[in-house]
Amino acid sequence: MTIAGDGSSIEHPINYPTRCNRLALLERTDAKYIQVERQFQKGWKHPKKPMPRVHAIFKILASEESLKPFLEYRARVQASLTVNSTFKNPGNEHLLFHGTNRFCLLAEDSDSVRLCALPECFLCSVIQNSFDIRKCGTKNKFRRFGTGIYTTACSSKADDYSFNGMKRSKFQVLLLNRVIVGKPLKRRQNETNLAEPPCGYHSVVGEPGVDLNYEETVIYNNDAIRPAYLVVYGSASEIHSKVHALISTLFKTPLAS
Ligand SMILES: [Zn+2]
Repeated sequence: MTIAGDGSSIEHPINYPTRCNRLALLERTDAKYIQVERQFQKGWKHPKKPMPRVHAIFKILASEESLKPFLEYRARVQASLTVNSTFKNPGNEHLLFHGTNRFCLLAEDSDSVRLCALPECFLCSVIQNSFDIRKCGTKNKFRRFGTGIYTTACSSKADDYSFNGMKRSKFQVLLLNRVIVGKPLKRRQNETNLAEPPCGYHSVVGEPGVDLNYEETVIYNNDAIRPAYLVVYGSASEIHSKVHALISTLFKTPLAS
């Protein structure tokens, strides 16, 4: 299968200038930057969490070796969908968020694009090798829809799982991923024993209502997902403290917190 048309490939000519690195910084005027920033803002739904500012967005480049099984899986899912399916994208592909551990300073500034090799830095591992279901639940033991890879359109929910292991880091990061949702089974109640999607479906979508407050999409195949963008944003506390510092400086007086 040729993947010359897939812009995520590190081998694609449009990515030539950055082919040494897995991260390519997007210009603020880039149509993809605008689209991803809008999706991040639209997905920020928790009323008690102030909307953070997006500082940077990196495109994540994948090796052809990694993209091939993903695109083959997408083609298989697409072929299994009925002709009456009205999904907009092949395989019902969506861009969905995922928050994870970062134990290095990747993406703290435009030059910090080298992946670390720390085993606890899941972020660099995912960017290097994509997701691995065997690591599912390493961090959070509760698995609402069983052993799968959890993603969401709700950026403020994914933010709950974004963790900085280095105290020096100033920003939070979230992965925005290409996810082959295929035909989803929509559930409102927990089903913690799942290890694969129910027969006839490709994924489970948890809908808000009974057990959930915000949507989540779970897939059970490593080839159903690839990281696509890294969103770098300021945490609410950081913005809060910056505002405090600014006001304090302006009035030259300490503020009560
Ligand atoms: Zn790292």
